[in-house]
Amino acid sequence: MSSQRILIRNGTVLTMDPHLGQLEGADVLVEDGKILEVGPGLDGGDCEVVDATGTIVMPGFVDSHRHLWQAVIRHIGSDWTHGQYLTGVHLGLSGDFRPEDTYIGNLLGAVEALDGGITTLLDWSHNIDTPDHGDAAVEALQASGMRAVFAHGGGARMWQLPSTVPHTRDVLRIRDQYFSSDDQLVTMAFALRGPQFSTPEVAHEDWKLVQELGTRVTVHNGDGEWGKRRPVAWMHEHGMLDERVTHVHCSSLAPDEFQMIADSGGSASVSADVEAQMGLGWPATGRLLDVGVRPSLSVDVCVSNGGDMFNAMKATIAIQRGLDNAAEATPGEQDGVRLSCQDVLEFATIEGARAVGLDHVTGSLTPGKDADIILVRADGVSMSPLNNPAGALVYSGHPGLVDTVMVRGEVVKRDGRLVRADLADIQRRAVEARDYLFKAALDRPSTADARTGGSWIPGIHKVER
Ligand SMILES: [Zn+2]
Repeated sequence: MSSQRILIRNGTVLTMDPHLGQLEGADVLVEDGKILEVGPGLDGGDCEVVDATGTIVMPGFVDSHRHLWQAVIRHIGSDWTHGQYLTGVHLGLSGDFRPEDTYIGNLLGAVEALDGGITTLLDWSHNIDTPDHGDAAVEALQASGMRAVFAHGGGARMWQLPSTVPHTRDVLRIRDQYFSSDDQLVTMAFALRGPQFSTPEVAHEDWKLVQELGTRVTVHNGDGEWGKRRPVAWMHEHGMLDERVTHVHCSSLAPDEFQMIADSGGSASVSADVEAQMGLGWPATGRLLDVGVRPSLSVDVCVSNGGDMFNAMKATIAIQRGLDNAAEATPGEQDGVRLSCQDVLEFATIEGARAVGLDHVTGSLTPGKDADIILVRADGVSMSPLNNPAGALVYSGHPGLVDTVMVRGEVVKRDGRLVRADLADIQRRAVEARDYLFKAALDRPSTADARTGGSWIPGIHKVER
């Protein structure tokens, strides 16, 4: 943690704090990794000055759900259906991951996220077949320098559906070994399969383990056909809904289940890009807003889609506005849009922080919170003149514009470049892991045609329901 003062001077500051709002030509003063003050003309005394002229200064993004281990096999599924994804990844390549492949997948994915201004990420880690895989996943997050929540989601043995195998108790060992304090940059959650993916007996058993672990819970509820089995209603019936639960997707839930989430104080994570691609149902942004739940956003499957929040914001707003317009009698003539760019920016920051239980430390530029801050260049040909900062970020933002990234006061990206010295090594090791995984896949009949290049289309796995 930095012990110095840093004065970020003269930016367009989007605080995401309703009391502070948006400030032109303002400063952010950071001390000992925390935000000390936000406002115009601050006097930092003897301190490092970061010139923010021509940039938007805002809290780092929060991705509330991503399967980070998949970064080494990124984009192989960009033209796949959900059924092909199950064959190619969950019944295919995932089974060949060695702990070192998990490590480098997590590290590469985390570095990619930081590069795009994501300072907090919940790693929905569901390819942990052995304790060594769990260790590798956690250690990569710790080596990344990002704020992360390691959500333990078990491994392939637990994901043969519907599962009769209870969640591994190694999750308790991992908590004791790595997560003795809540003040760490990397903390822990339970990635629950929920009643969609396991037998009722196993779902009860898993919930007992949740109580024993004592962490927050993240659960896929309402993803495609699975989601029509009323998973939220089942959890409600069995006393499993509360404010510590984040419901991922929610796309195919029944109307009354949305109300149950709202009544329980639970949060939601929308992965609009993947939901549209994989047929999980229409992104639930609007239906969540209808019951008063402001969703967080997530990247989810980087096997298919890109790993930055600009992409996630754009998919979210484009699809929801399309749905809203389609519901109108005379589309385009209604009295205003209901989802604003500012809303979507809040989903990508403060609502993400809430959904991972870290809104007391990150998600807004509120004095007293940790200094998780990004500077996005707004003086180039795509953003200038800057007439609407939120609109510019949502519709023209991309990772290449992210100039500076700071996590708890530590600068991890400066002048548009990640500062860590081992990037080439990370990329080399990721290619080695990728090569190993594709070679190993050739020995399995269902993936014997696995290849990179974009032409591999696996067979469709049909799930028994
Ligand atoms: Zn997911």
